[in-house]
Parts: sequence; structure tokens; C-alpha cells
Amino acid sequence: MIRAITFHIVTCDVCGDEDSDDPMPLYDTHERAAADARHAGWIVTADQRVICPVNDREHRAAVDRLMPPEPRIEIEGQQSLDLGTDTSR
Ligand SMILES: [Zn+2]
Repeated sequence: MIRAITFHIVTCDVCGDEDSDDPMPLYDTHERAAADARHAGWIVTADQRVICPVNDREHRAAVDRLMPPEPRIEIEGQQSLDLGTDTSR
């Protein structure tokens, strides 16, 4: 019998695991692949981005891009408060 079998593998979106000597495990479901990767310390996002735990500049930058943007600070409001304290001197 010849039949097609679908399997899932996990590869890092940053480095593609080019340095790994270990054979890539095969998973029968996407959920098992994601769960095993998370258990091994990988980041797997809801939209299927995958980042391995290598701690170099490229991987840290990829993790930073997943973070929400910094909240904006209202500079004008702070300036008016500073002016108020200056007039009391
Ligand atoms: Zn990687």
C-alpha cells in the first residue's frame, strides 16, 4: 500500500535550527508539536510563530517584536505640572 502521511515538525522562525544536530521529532498533530516545543522552552504564539530558546541578539529581537508597543507618555500634561511647581518657588 502506498499512502500519504502528514506529520508536523517544529523549526525556529529565526534560525531554522540550522545549528541543531538532533533529529527533528515528528508529531501527528500540530497541538502536540506546539506543546512539546513549549515544554522545551520554545515560544509558540497563537499565530504559529516559533522561536527557539537560543539567547542571541537575533532571537532576543524576535521576542521583543512579539511584545506590545510601549505606552505613550503624555509629555504636555507633565510639562504643565512642572510649570506649576516652578511658580511656587
Ligand atoms: Zn532559533
